[in-house]
This record gives sequence, C-alpha cells and structure tokens, in this order.
Amino acid sequence: MNSFSYVSAPDLDTALRTIANTEDVKFLAGGTNLVDLMREGIERPGTVVDITRLPLTGIEELPDGGIRVGALVSNSRLAADPVIRTRYPVLARAILLGASAQLRNMATVGGNLLQRTRCLYFYDDVAACNKRTPGSGCDAIGGFSRSSAVLGASEHCIATHPSDMAVALAMLDAVIEVQSLHGTRQIPIAEFHRVPGDTPQIETVLAADELITAVTLPPVPVAANSHYRKVRDRASYAFALVSVAAALAVEGGVVAEVRIALGGVGTKPWRAVEAERVLLGGPATEEAFARAAEAELAAAVGGPQNAFKIELARRTIVATLRQLMVEGNPA
Ligand code: SF4
Repeated sequence: MNSFSYVSAPDLDTALRTIANTEDVKFLAGGTNLVDLMREGIERPGTVVDITRLPLTGIEELPDGGIRVGALVSNSRLAADPVIRTRYPVLARAILLGASAQLRNMATVGGNLLQRTRCLYFYDDVAACNKRTPGSGCDAIGGFSRSSAVLGASEHCIATHPSDMAVALAMLDAVIEVQSLHGTRQIPIAEFHRVPGDTPQIETVLAADELITAVTLPPVPVAANSHYRKVRDRASYAFALVSVAAALAVEGGVVAEVRIALGGVGTKPWRAVEAERVLLGGPATEEAFARAAEAELAAAVGGPQNAFKIELARRTIVATLRQLMVEGNPA
C-alpha cells in the first residue's frame, strides 16, 4: 500500500473544505471497498478523509411519507429497520443478499452506491483496463467475461455494477443528496450512475468536491408488495449473475402499477422501463410477464461467455413477477 495522509473530519464543514482544498482525496467510511482497492494499488489517494464521525446516521420519516437515510447508516442497520422492512421490503432483502454479515456491518449507504466493479481485469494491474487506466484497452472483451454486462456496455468497457442495494434503490426512485461548499443538490438515482461510453473511468455524476450525505426514499405504496430475487453461483457472498427488484399491484386482473430494476446484467443499476411500459394497464399474466421481459432485453448483447444472462434475466423477471402476483394479489 502506498503512503497517504489521514485526516479524521470532526464535522461536515471540515470534510468538505478538505476535499475542496486538497488534491487526490478519498473519503473513508466503512472502507469495505476502498481499503481493498488501496491494498491492490488500484486507488492511490494522497489523502484519506475519515468521515465516520460525521452526524449522517439518521433514519428519519418525512412528512410526505418518505424516508431520509443518512449516508453513514450501515447496510445492516438499514436492512433491519422495521419501517424499511415493512414499507420497502425489496430494499431490506437486496441488502441482506449482498456481501457477508461482517461486511454489511461496516458498509454504508453512501459507500455502497460508490462501490466499484468486481471485473477481474480491473483488479489486475498488468491487464488492459480502460476503467483503471483510460485508453489502455479492455481485456474483458474477448477474455473472461462470464460476469460482464449485457445491457449498457460499450466497446470501451463491459463491466457490471456490483451493488444489490442500488438496484432496489433504482426501483424505488431514490434520490441521492450530495453536498459541497457550494450547497446541496438532489440527484435522482436514475441519473447518478453513468453508462461507460468512452469514459468508463467516470462512473457517477458526483463532482470531485461533493460528498453523499443522504438517500431519500419517496413514498412508494406499491413497494409494500415488492421482492428482490438474486441468482448467483453460490448461495451466499457472491455477486449477482442476474437480480431483479420488482413491485406489482394488480386490480381486476390488470397491472395497475409495476416497477422493475435489474442487477448483474447492466453497467449501472438498470431500471427496466421498457418492461414496465409493456406491462402497465395490460393483463397480469405469465405471458405478459414474458413479453415484457423480452421487450426489455431486446437491446441486450451477450458474448460467448455471458449471453446466458439474457435468458436467465428473462426467466428471473417472470419468476419474480409471478411470485409477487401470488403473494401480493391473492385470488
Ligand atoms: Fe476494465 Fe471495464 Fe474492461 Fe473490466 S470491462 S477490463 S473494468 S474496461
């Protein structure tokens, strides 16, 4: 590991001033991804600002029925919160299916949103990787690409976004609150993560001097009937091959409301807007679920090692909607 300066920020103002006035700074919260990246030499910050003392640990109910979650709330605490478990079960389940209990105890909401891909070549500093070293190429294309994305990829990067939590947040239309010395801004999660295009090293719209301070969950009544289904190579502590976050309301056999987001298949948490469009107002049948999945995946592109994800995603979407249909809309 390279040497670096360490600053423990006593308050938000100090944290924001440090990042505004110092080059090459990284914020340290749970450290579950950053420390690994520093050990591997992938991240080499000159200064690390420890933000764990900042008062960003609240889970507050908002007057409109939404919830504001501080950026330093641990994944474990968020998943165990009774209001989250009742109103947003998809979020609690997505978190509990991610990582290990020890990691969830340390990982924070803000850090989870910023975790970096687990593409093998990204962590191998002798491999070509445009995300790690812009312009160097992409060894995953034509290489070991079983875990790579089938949606949102470019000729410069095909890496998947690794988060489970962010997939549920995408389904819920969460809003990311960020602060800098210039003030606060609210970023809808659909706009927060970027597809790689020709700049895969730029993964979010977060500016260099900004800190995530909170995530707001809007009131989403349909989320009371929501679920997160994760398909992976082993039963625990593995990233998704495919995951589906979905919520469904059916009235008189017709889809009255539906939300779907996908993980493990996209270069960012993937809101399945096309599938939702096909389903809304139509019959809530297995055939319709399959048509919607096919519509969403029409743009998917797979290679020899990861094309299986397209069919797996289709089946996982159908299975998740079928489960919601049975559990949340009994005959
Ligand atoms: Fe790097 Fe992206 Fe290619 Fe993986 S897929 S090697 S992260 S550029």
